[in-house]
Amino acid sequence: MNCLFCKIVNGEIPSNKVYEDDKILAFYDINPEAKIHVLVVPKAHIESANDITEENSITVAYIFEKIPVIASRAGITNGYRIITNSGPDSCQSVMHLHFHILGGEKLPEHIR
Ligand code: AMP
Ligand code: ZN
Repeated sequence: MNCLFCKIVNGEIPSNKVYEDDKILAFYDINPEAKIHVLVVPKAHIESANDITEENSITVAYIFEKIPVIASRAGITNGYRIITNSGPDSCQSVMHLHFHILGGEKLPEHIR
């Protein structure tokens, strides 16, 4: 499958990893929009938040269970924002479900 994050998951494209296990991978965003900007992805391809189902939602729950560990490993100590873009109007650019973890500084109050 020609998917950038699948290629990062299988090692075809390198990434700066924060956390990895058999189900999920977290790595630094190549174009950070906050002092600390990490992306968390399921290893199994899910296109977007709009494609979460009864069958795959357990991995999404697992991602949220691991986010505190990932944020802490990335050096975030004072809170963070979790964002996921889904579909054209959100400007989702990589069609593999990912959660942006933004922190390391005081973020703007409003995201638009
Ligand atoms: P989105 O616009 O929500 O789909 O987010 C995609 C994110 O992936 C953007 O923040 C990009 O900076 C990031 N990104 C694109 N290519 C890479 C890469 N090779 N390594 C790490 N992050 C990337
Ligand atoms: Zn993928």
